[in-house]
Amino acid sequence: MESSELFTEAKARSADPADPLAVVTAATLLGQELIRDADRLVDLAVHEAREAGASWTAIGERLGISKQAARRRFMQPFATRRIRRDQACSFCRKPPSPRLKMVHGEAGRICAECVALAGEIVSRSKDVKSP
Ligand SMILES: [Zn+2]
Repeated sequence: MESSELFTEAKARSADPADPLAVVTAATLLGQELIRDADRLVDLAVHEAREAGASWTAIGERLGISKQAARRRFMQPFATRRIRRDQACSFCRKPPSPRLKMVHGEAGRICAECVALAGEIVSRSKDVKSP
């Protein structure tokens, strides 16, 4: 995206587009958002590279940092992903997401898809029992 487009976006987001200082604040916030997006982009690329078997040394070389620095920087997002997997549906192992609601119980979790499937199975078994 061009910086002039970003500036237009910052102006549109500012509390008062006529106030240059309000635009500076909006530009700073937009800039922070872009940095987070850029970090997420690199996280995804590094995750794919690791899954494809790339070493931390090779990844560090591409990023111009040491193997230790690469591992330190990118192990955290992977750890977060592992936590998300621990919060997955106890039946189908799908992770929670904004689109997939999860019902939490004492011994585990069940996603909306599994609830629907269980509902179907229960209603079918009722049909068999009652003639
Ligand atoms: Zn499920």
